[in-house]
Order: sequence, then C-alpha cells, then structure tokens
Amino acid sequence: MFYSKEELTERFKERFGQMEKRDNAAAYSSMASIVQEFVEERRNMTHALYKESNEKQLYYISLEFLLGRMLRSNLSNLGAYEVASDVLRDAGFSLEEIEEQEVDPGLGNGGLGRLAACFMDSLASLGLPGHGYAIRYRGGLFTQHIEDGFQKESPVHWITKHDQWDVRHEELAVEVPFYGKLIKHEDGAVEHEDAIWVKAVPYDMPIVGGNSGPVNTLRLWQAEPCGRPLPVGVDKGQYEAATAEISDRLYPDDSYDEGKLLRLKQQYFLCSASLQAIFNEGGFPVKELPEHVAIQINDTHPAMAIPELMRILMDGHGLTWDAAWAITTRTISYTNHTILEEAMEKWDQWLLKELVPRIYDIIEEIDRRFKATLPGGLNEKERHKLAVLDEKQVKMAVLAVVGSYKVNGVASLHTEILKKREMKELYAIFPEKFHNKTNGITHRRWLIQANPELTELITESIGDQWKREPERLAELAHYGADTALLRDFQAVKRLKKNQLIQAVKAAGDNAIDPDSIFDIQIKRFHGYKRQLMNILHVRMLHDRIRNDATFRPHPRTFFFGGKAAPSYHFAKQVIKMIHAVAQQVNSDPVARKYLHVVFIEDYNVSHAEKLIPAAEVSEQISTASKEASGTGNMKFMMNGALTLGTVDGANVEIFEAIGEDNAFVFGLSAEQVMRFEAEGDYRPAEVLEEDAQIRQLIAELEAGELSDGAANAELVIRQLGAEEDPFFVLRDLNSYALAHERMVEAYGDQLAWQGMAWTNVAHSGIFSSDRTIQQYSDDVWDLGRFRLKV
Ligand SMILES: *Cc1c(COP(=O)(O)O)cnc(C)c1O
Repeated sequence: MFYSKEELTERFKERFGQMEKRDNAAAYSSMASIVQEFVEERRNMTHALYKESNEKQLYYISLEFLLGRMLRSNLSNLGAYEVASDVLRDAGFSLEEIEEQEVDPGLGNGGLGRLAACFMDSLASLGLPGHGYAIRYRGGLFTQHIEDGFQKESPVHWITKHDQWDVRHEELAVEVPFYGKLIKHEDGAVEHEDAIWVKAVPYDMPIVGGNSGPVNTLRLWQAEPCGRPLPVGVDKGQYEAATAEISDRLYPDDSYDEGKLLRLKQQYFLCSASLQAIFNEGGFPVKELPEHVAIQINDTHPAMAIPELMRILMDGHGLTWDAAWAITTRTISYTNHTILEEAMEKWDQWLLKELVPRIYDIIEEIDRRFKATLPGGLNEKERHKLAVLDEKQVKMAVLAVVGSYKVNGVASLHTEILKKREMKELYAIFPEKFHNKTNGITHRRWLIQANPELTELITESIGDQWKREPERLAELAHYGADTALLRDFQAVKRLKKNQLIQAVKAAGDNAIDPDSIFDIQIKRFHGYKRQLMNILHVRMLHDRIRNDATFRPHPRTFFFGGKAAPSYHFAKQVIKMIHAVAQQVNSDPVARKYLHVVFIEDYNVSHAEKLIPAAEVSEQISTASKEASGTGNMKFMMNGALTLGTVDGANVEIFEAIGEDNAFVFGLSAEQVMRFEAEGDYRPAEVLEEDAQIRQLIAELEAGELSDGAANAELVIRQLGAEEDPFFVLRDLNSYALAHERMVEAYGDQLAWQGMAWTNVAHSGIFSSDRTIQQYSDDVWDLGRFRLKV
C-alpha cells in the first residue's frame, strides 16, 4: 500500500518546504521524489525476492524504450493517483498541471521503442520477473520544431529535468572492450590485446506495474572513461570524447540505417554490458544458463548479444564451441519488426573486424559452421539469403535467426510474410523456430491513465475486473444497444475532444470545431505509412469544395503528428506539404467551414495520450504488407475511434475482432501489392489516365500549388512519377477517398456510430500487451509469477 493521505501530506510538506510558493516544478520534483523512493524500496525488495527464489529471469534488450512520463503511470499503477491528487489540491496544486513539468524521456523513435515500454509495464503487472536493458542516451530523440512549414531538429537533454526516476549504481559498473587485436593460442584460447575499454555504469529505473505486483528494473547504461591504461598512441582527450559519445544520443532513425560507426559502438556497448551484468547476477552454474535466464532481443539491433554470449562462455568460462553454442541457442530469442529491405540491418565486415575483432571472429565461425550444415542443391539466391557473411557485409537478421531458439513476427500477417517470402529459406531450415506474437499496448497507460472518463464509464457497466483481465472488456458487447449508455459514451468523447481543443488552443490554434469529425494520423513519417496519401486526399476535398457548390460535407479536422528522420528528405517534404495545404485550407473562407488541418509539433507519448482519447477516426493507411504490426491502431480502437485502414499489420486482426462493418477498409491487399512488386507491372501513369481528379491533383502538385513553390515538392513528384510510386499512393487514392465517403455517411447516424465505436472498445482487450506478454512467457520464456508480500 502507498502512503495514507496524512502520511503523504506530511512527506510532501517536508520536501516542498515553503508551501505558499506556487512553483509547479518544485511541486513536481517533490512528489516525484517521494514516489521514486517508495518504488525504489520495492524494487530492492523485489530483487531480493528474485535472488532468493532462484527462478528464471527475462532480460529484454532493446536500443529503444519510449517510456513517456512516469509520475502519472507510477501513481496510477500504485493505486495512488487519487490520494496524490488530493494532497496536491490541498496544497494548492493540480496534479494534472504539475505533470506537465515532466519531460518525456525520448529514448525511442516510435513503435518499436514504445512496444518495449508497454512490455515492461505488462511484465511487472503480471508479476513476471522481466527486466529491460537499454542505453541512457543523454540526448533522447531530437525535438521537432516547425519553421515556415519545415521540420527543424534540436537536441533535447531530458536527463537534467528527469533524473528523479533512475539511480546510479557505480558499484555495478562493467567494462566493455573495443578495437585491439586478437592473439590465438594453439590450445584454442584467444587473447584480446591492446583493447580500448569503456566503462558502462548502470542507472536503474524501477518499473511499477498495476495489481501491486513486483517492481522490476529497467537498466540504462551510461558510457564513461575507465581507469585502465590506454594503448600506446591513443590520445586521452580523444578517448574521453569518443567514450562520452556512446551514450550521447539516440539514432533518429528506426528504418533507415545510416551505417554509422557510432551506432555500432552503441550496439556492442549495450550487448556486452548487459550480458556481463547477467553473469554478475549469477546464482547458477554457467551450463544451466538457459534454465535461469531468457534473453529477448528487440529487432536485430542487439543481435551482437549472440556472439557476445559465445565470447563470455568460451573466453571467460572456458567452454568449448559446441557447449557454448548449445547454451546460446537455448537462451536468446529474437523479434523481427520489419520486412522493409532498407531496414534489414547490415554492417560492413571491415567495420566489425576493426571495432570488435573477437565478435567478428566469432561471427565468422558461426557463418562457417552454418554454411557447412546447409543441404546441397541450393541455388545462388538461396545461398545469399542464408549467409550471415555475404558480399563483404554482416547480415544481422540471419545472425539473429541462426543464433536464437525462437523467432517471432509481430502480427500474424507479418509472420506469414516472413515465413513465405522474406525468410523463406531460413524458415525451411528452422521451421520450429518461427512463431507469431501479435503486439499489444498496455491498457493501463493507454486507457486507464489516458482516458479516466471512459474508464469510469466502462467500470459502471461491467465492474472493474477488466483492469486486471482486459479481455473481459468483451462483456461490454452486451450493452452495445443501450441507448442511454451510448449517449454517455458520446459525451465522454465530446469531453475528450474539448480537452484536446483546449490543449491545441494553448499551442495557438483557435479554430477547431468540436462538432467536426476528429480524424487523426500520428506516427513516424515514412513513405510506406502514406501521410502523403492523406494530405493529397485533403487537397482533393478542397478542390471539390471549390469546384462544386453543392459539395458541402460534414466538417472534419485532420490532425497530423510525427517526426521525420533528419536525413529522410522525402518525408520532410511531406511535412512541408501538410503545412502548405493546411495554410490554404485553413485560410479559405468557404473551405475552412468544412476542413481544418492541424499539425501537432514534436509528437511524443504525452501528445499521444491527449490525442488518442479524442479521436473518432484512426488513420491506419500503410501500403499493405509494409507495416509489420502497428500499435497506434490498437490504442485508437481501445479509445473508441473507428479505423479507416488497409488490410495490413495488426489491422487485419483488429478487423477480424470487430468485423469489417465496424471499420472502413480500403485499398490493395498485401498479396496484390506483393504481386505487383514481383511482376514489376504497376504503372501509376495508368491511374492518371483513368482518373481525371487524380490527374488534376498531380498537375497541381507539379505546378507547385501544394507547396510554396515547386522545388519543395520535387522529391514527392519524383517518387510518384519517375520512381513509379513505390508505395502505391496513387493506386489506392480513389479507394481511400471512397472509404472516407462511407465514413462520413456513417457519422451522420450518431447512434449507430457510437455503437460501432463501442464494439471497438469491447473487442480491444486482446490487444492489451498483457496478452502478448503472457503468450511470450508461455511459449518462449517460461517464467513463473511472483507476488510481493508487503
Ligand atoms: C504508439 C506510438 C507509436 C507507434 O505508432 P504506429 O501508428 O504504430 O506507427 C509511435 N510513437 C508514439 C509516441 C507512440 O505512442
């Protein structure tokens, strides 16, 4: 139990000192430090409990954890949100206001990092011993500013304001070797000489779940110089600067590999430090590692955990290759997050050889032994697909599959595409490794915390057991025809819309009509996510309003939000185009009664928590086959937005759960897209010939009307034209427009609409990450449940 109101008041007064000062920042840090100390104590108790029990532990290694703010989440999971709110109110503060003091720790780019954070929440909530390992980037992901419609990036240093939640543990530091050369002895022993060592210092952050479970640990590693003598010829100043760089910033790119040395250093730093720490925890004979430890690698970024574990077992514990390999391939499992060719991680061999010579050496041996086991009769292409080392590169995805005991895709469509196409050759060799675990989201952050009003309404209908067992949201289906209830549901949506309007007003936009349909697309900017199609469609609507005096549709507000990788020029042009179209639409005296375009700057978790509960239409419009799962789609449905989307990623499973008549489905199927790609016979010019409206749109684009001058859109024009529209934007545009028409028509019958939205909420329970994590635990990790007795 958390403190009583009296105790908390006492503690708050002690910390805060002069209660008359109206200082939100001081109030935030007073309250946050009280909560932090409370949960830190529970974390220590949990750690002791785990040690004593000697039960299996899971370590989830990820280059990204997109946590979002912690104060609300921790208080709410402790069941202490009300009491903290009361204490603050009595002291003259509002908890909602002081929360705004907390800087989002931007330790992730998008979905992949947010998934890791949701998993941490679910592990703790289910009472499972699972911990995260990541890097304590001093600057998280950049802050996005919009200047004259263009994205500008600036660094953000979250740590200064945020250091309340993690605690430095100098005594648990380890050292990671880079560079140097290998000396191989006749007996097989390997020495690593002249290495440059970097110290990894852990900062441990308590992870509090709901349901008063154990408090797990998210360990963030910080790189620092260590005391060892430097090899001759290495400059101390340069060494210190290069070391600090390792935990300086997050790569602002989750599907474009910039091929930077620094990124590789980060990966090895994380893998090596984490594995050493796992061994330091110890408590079991090395040979029993797989019975005591499960390691999940989140995408291929931490795939060097495989050769690093081999290194520790052989060089550190004297195991033979075969013994070490048997252990490694029973300990590590791998999640694949993408099939986009450009996002499949590859590194130049020379780079690994130079930076991590022993790791490269081990990868070479993994590759050699694997190739020796391959069946005869493979063709050239199959051999490439099965090579870890190929054409002077190291292919991390092949390494990850070969070196782990389980490989999962993140939605059933995605897993099938992996098995049938992308990893067909590997699947043929290791069919037993491949399985699906559809992603999920924590319903605690995304419903209970972000939407307390809807939470209350749900609880009034079905009691509160669903908070522990989210699949019981299905009981809501019994009330789908209760008109009074649907009116209350509608009122909650209206309230969340108004709250969003207030938040956006504070950012300077006064023109949002609460009666308009809130249509939202928030996610990283990427070609395949097709924000371009969305904004082209807005422009089509604008054209129609201008050219046809009888076309006066129900008012709509289109929200966009998301960052583009700084080097991804195409995506940045799309952001510019959204601003250009927004400017035209929002200032057109006629059109602005029907259309309004809003761009939310610097989209992050805290913005998502305000936007999603207010959404009525969830734009999930990726080119079919390209979005592995998506998790934004799940957050929206859970908050009663209707999906307007393609048959892609987890949308497929959402449509299955709710029935296609409770969504607006459009566009090419994954199979059609893949067939076009295989045959190479899609011609966007044919779309233009057939469709006068799209032809006009492209003409406007080429004339520079959708941007401030043609030059701003040149990459967009090139992609749709000379590059033959690789994401099928033009091909799907008409089908997309028709889906919007169906949506607007459906919106006209509000009672029916609310029924559809209600159905979405009712079937969202299976998309809780509690379900995902339980499946991982049952099928992959084999963990036991714990309760903390306090
Ligand atoms: C959920 C989430 C994402 C992932 O969104 P998708 O629509 O699945 O790409 C990205 N960023 C933030 C801040 C999120 O909360």
